[in-house]
Amino acid sequence: MDANRDARRVADGLPLGGLSERFGGDVVAPSDDVYDEARRVWNGMVNEYPAAITYCESVDDVRVAVGFAREHDLEIAVRSGGHSVSGASVVSGGLVVDCSRMEWVRVDPEKGTARVGPGATWGTVDRTTQSFGLATPGGVYADTGVAGLTLGGGTGYLSPKHGFTADNLREIEVVTGSGERVTADAERHADLFWAARGGGTPGVVTAFEFDLHPLDHDVPYFESWLPVAVADDALREYRRYQRDAPDESCVFPYFASVPAIAEFPADRHGDLALVVAGVHAGDPAVGRREFETFRGHPDAFAESFETMAYTDLQSMMDGDFPVGRRYYWKSVPLAELDDDAIGELRTAAAAAPSELSTIVVWPMHGAVGRTPESETPLAGRDADVVVNVEAAWDDPTATTDNVEWVRETCRRFRERTSIPGTLPNFAGGRAPDAEDVYAANAERLREVRETYDPDGLFAYERG
Ligand SMILES: Cc1cc2nc3c(=O)[nH]c(=O)nc-3n(C[C@H](O)[C@H](O)[C@H](O)COP(=O)(O)OP(=O)(O)OC[C@H]3O[C@@H](n4cnc5c(N)ncnc54)[C@H](O)[C@@H]3O)c2cc1C
Repeated sequence: MDANRDARRVADGLPLGGLSERFGGDVVAPSDDVYDEARRVWNGMVNEYPAAITYCESVDDVRVAVGFAREHDLEIAVRSGGHSVSGASVVSGGLVVDCSRMEWVRVDPEKGTARVGPGATWGTVDRTTQSFGLATPGGVYADTGVAGLTLGGGTGYLSPKHGFTADNLREIEVVTGSGERVTADAERHADLFWAARGGGTPGVVTAFEFDLHPLDHDVPYFESWLPVAVADDALREYRRYQRDAPDESCVFPYFASVPAIAEFPADRHGDLALVVAGVHAGDPAVGRREFETFRGHPDAFAESFETMAYTDLQSMMDGDFPVGRRYYWKSVPLAELDDDAIGELRTAAAAAPSELSTIVVWPMHGAVGRTPESETPLAGRDADVVVNVEAAWDDPTATTDNVEWVRETCRRFRERTSIPGTLPNFAGGRAPDAEDVYAANAERLREVRETYDPDGLFAYERG
C-alpha cells in the first residue's frame, strides 16, 4: 500500500501531538486503531490515506486545523456529511478537516430562516424545520450532508417551487484558506458568497443560513412502474406534462431494475422498468388531481399513491444507497427531452452493467430556471431536464465497466441535445474540469478561489 506508507511518512514528520494539545476535538493519525474507519467515506470505491483527520468541534478547532495545514503545506479536504459521490472529502497525504460533529440547527420562525452547522444532515434539518411547519429545498436522502450539497448547488423535490438549495442560502460563516474568519452574504464578501452558492468554498463553512418556506401539510407522492416496452411513449407523455408543469410538481422518471421484493410481481423481478415518480408540494387535493395524468396506466405492473409527512418523504430512500457500495454518478443537462434523447435513455439503461444502477430524468422547470445564471456559479439553468446516470455495483472487478458505462452514456448525450454545464454534485470523478461544470462562470470562480485561498490549500474537487 504505497499511499498508506506515504501517509505514515507525512504524518511522522508532523507535530500531531502538539496539534492535539491546541485542539478541542480529536486528531486521528495513520498509526491509530480508528484510522481505517475514520478515512472511509460513503463511496466504497474511495480508498484515500490522509496524513491526519481532525474532528472539529468548534470554529476555533477549524481555525487551528486550517492554520496547521498552512504551516505544514498540507492539502485540505473538508468533510461534513461524507457523502461526496466522488469521495472528494478525503485526500491522500493531506489533512481532512471533518465538521461532522458541528451538527446543530436553529430555526427563527419570525424571520423564516434556519441557521445550520456544517455537520448537519438533511434528516436533521428537515425534522427541525418541519416542527415549525417550514422547509427549505434540500436533497432527497436524509443522510446527505447539508454542507456539501448546498455548496454544490443542491436539487430536491422542492426545487421547482423554491430553486436550488444554494438559491435559498442567505449567509455563510467561513474560515478562509488564509485563516480569516468572515461572514459572507449578498453585501459582505459578496464574491465569496456568490461562489459558495454552487461553486464550493475556498475555506471551511462553519455556519449556513437558509430561507425557509411554509410547508405545513402532508405531501402526495406517487410512482408507477412500467415495462420498458412502453417507456418511450411514457416519456413523451412526461414531456407533454413538463411543458406546463406547475412549480409545485416535481415529476422525475427513472429507469431501474425491478427489485425482488413482494411489492412487485415475481415474473417482473430483475426486469428493466421505467418508473414515473412524482411529488406535489402544494395543496394535496390539487396534487392528487395533478397526478391523474400518470395514474392508472394500462401497462403499469405496480402503482402507489400516498400522502405523507414531508419528513417521511425525505427519508423514503433510506437504505437504498448503502455506505461502502461502489458508485459513479454523472449528470448532463438537456436542452430538450426530444425523441432522440428518449431513445438514448432506453438504450443506455438496457446496457447498464449492474442491476443496481439507475438513470434519472430530473425536471428543471420553475424557480430553478427563473434565477439568472449570473447570480450563482451554477450553469445549465435553462435546461429542460437533467439526466443523472447513476452506476452502483458491489463487485470490485466490475469498476471499469461501470465507470465506462456512465462516461459513454454522458458522452452520447453531450453530442446530442446537451447544454453547457453539469450539476456540481454529480460532476463525475474527483477533479472535473471547471469549464465542464461551470461553463461561462468558471473563470470568475477561479478568481474568487485565488483571492481567498492564495496558497491553494483546498482541494477543489467536487462530485
Ligand atoms: C445517497 C446520495 C443522495 C444524494 N442526493 C442528492 C440530491 O438529492 N440532490 C443533490 O443536489 N445532491 C445529492 N447528492 C449529492 C450530494 O449533494 C453531494 O455528494 C454532497 O457533496 C454531499 O454533501 P456532504 O456534506 O455529505 O459531503 P462531503 O463528502 O462531506 O463533502 C463534499 C465536498 O463538499 C465540500 N464541503 C463539505 N463540507 C464543507 C464545509 N463545511 N466547508 C467547505 N466545503 C465543504 C468539500 O469540497 C467536500 O469535498 C446525493 C449524494 C448521495 C451519496
